[in-house]
Amino acid sequence: MSKEPRRDGGAVEGCVFCQIAAGRIPSIRIYEDPEFIAFMDIASQAEGHFLIVPRAHYEVLADLPDGLLAKVLPLAKKLSGAAMTGLGVEGFNLLQNNGEVAGQAVPHWHMHVIPRRGKDEFPFHPGAPADLTQLPFVAENIRLNVNS
Ligand code: 5GP
Ligand code: ZN
Repeated sequence: MSKEPRRDGGAVEGCVFCQIAAGRIPSIRIYEDPEFIAFMDIASQAEGHFLIVPRAHYEVLADLPDGLLAKVLPLAKKLSGAAMTGLGVEGFNLLQNNGEVAGQAVPHWHMHVIPRRGKDEFPFHPGAPADLTQLPFVAENIRLNVNS
């Protein structure tokens, strides 16, 4: 198997999540179907932190076929609901890192589900106030590329 980045969903040698999906590395699974697995994160940000992972190997959001992506949020809704009921939590974060610069450590696309209980764990602070003189120009750079 090649170590080059690939965008056909095929398994990548040395990828830890491909190996978990294939059952070659053990994981504590909470869900599986033909296209996805969900298992407990080995270094959790909070009790109950788990990952939703397509079995197919795609690295970042832009690589994921829309048909597969369309199934992610319904599955996140189902599994986060199970976590809220089963763990007795009232909230959770969905987190999805794209690219090393964004903190993506495992280059096989995945979504984190992180149950939340209080302010002390995995804090999500409000950001700095936006610079309103620059914000329209930043927005324009995005808007101009929406359909490209
Ligand atoms: P990322 O930073 O790529 O968004 O998150 C990768 C996540 O995968 C981390 O939270 C990390 O703890 C988890 N992880 C990495 N290797 C393994 C593993 O072998 N088993 C499990 N269960 N989780 C892993
Ligand atoms: Zn993989």
